[in-house]
Amino acid sequence: MADLQALQQAFTERYGRGGAGPVHVFHAPGRVNLIGEHTDYNGGYVFPAALTFGTTMLIRKRGDDQLGFASTNFDLHKHISIQHIAFDAADDWINYPKGIVAKLRERGVALGGYDILYSGAIPNGSGLSSSASIEVVTAFGLLTMEGQPADKVQIALLSQKAENEFMGVNCGIMDQFAVAVGKEDHAILLMCDTLEYKHVPFRSGDYKLVIGNTNKKRGLVDSAYNERRSQCERAVAYLQAQFPQLTLLGQLSLEQFNGAKHLIPDDIVRNRAQHVVEEIDRVLQSMKVLENDDLAAFGQLMVGSHNSLRDLYEVTCLELDVMVEEALKVRGVLGSRMTGAGFGGCTVSLVHQDSIAAFIEQVGAAYRERTGLSADFYVCEIGDGVKELAN
Ligand code: ADP
Ligand code: MG
Repeated sequence: MADLQALQQAFTERYGRGGAGPVHVFHAPGRVNLIGEHTDYNGGYVFPAALTFGTTMLIRKRGDDQLGFASTNFDLHKHISIQHIAFDAADDWINYPKGIVAKLRERGVALGGYDILYSGAIPNGSGLSSSASIEVVTAFGLLTMEGQPADKVQIALLSQKAENEFMGVNCGIMDQFAVAVGKEDHAILLMCDTLEYKHVPFRSGDYKLVIGNTNKKRGLVDSAYNERRSQCERAVAYLQAQFPQLTLLGQLSLEQFNGAKHLIPDDIVRNRAQHVVEEIDRVLQSMKVLENDDLAAFGQLMVGSHNSLRDLYEVTCLELDVMVEEALKVRGVLGSRMTGAGFGGCTVSLVHQDSIAAFIEQVGAAYRERTGLSADFYVCEIGDGVKELAN
């Protein structure tokens, strides 16, 4: 997080010393999914964690109906009347907070005017959910400023709705949920269908999560995502011959699936389903091994997850595979896998703290040599979900 004093100064430079009250500061994290990939839309578990870096929002009440939006990450800034909130491509990033304002107003929340300055520490568009972070901090901050209840699950749902309907991005609930309800040193076991969740202690001891950004521009994501979804639906249709009530792959245990998978005649469709059912099983195994602080076993599950995403679900790419392969060559690395939808974005690795410098150097060099791209690395702690910061 940027230095708070510097941000206060930037706020005053942008908006002056006036205003109708003190400046309040809110923060929402980014997130990483530790295991459980492409399970969410199949009725399975995901296992994300909030990060200690995210989006900080400084906000001060005005006496009128104007909303001022500025960000230290972008040059574009402007004031908009609360009465005239509508999507406008020319407003670029400002559409994200506008979407939240629009959804709050749809819910009947009466908002006053505010000046707002954001400052983000999450790389944009890398799959660490900077969009969910700015959405959730905006919803939480505005509701708190208005003295309204700021229920975190409701905020996650409202933020997802804003991203789906206002931004036109077809995302699930995991990102907004993790950013809203995250807890320091805990991951979140979440069933996306029912929003049942629990905080699971993630005692990583001498090991740290290191996120590697492939910096590979993601193409094809939407079409491949839709294709995977429809393949999972086809698998369900075949399996209904034995399980007439089946609607989602996540409703089958691994044993049930293995006993019935011969009903799926198409190799590719069977592989997709095999990944989903095994990946859900890996999430459940992760709960067990983490309960015993068996990080080595969790690392092996991470590797199993990556291999399955590469071979069965086929959503990795050269860059993700190279980064994971090189990570696993470094001493002191317990596990590594792609995280997010795939085809680019980030990997997450579990690395002994004494090996981090070597990890970044060796993986960075080998990655550059083999892909021609230069990677970024972030050493992460698991942080809290959205909250107000003491000022
Ligand atoms: P991801 O969520 O994976 O980081 P997205 O493309 O979904 O990538 O969202 C990134 C967009 O969110 C940015 O291009 C910008 O429009 C908006 N955004 C995120 N953080 C900030 C910020 N601190 N200030 C302004 N806009 C932001
Ligand atoms: Mg996003």
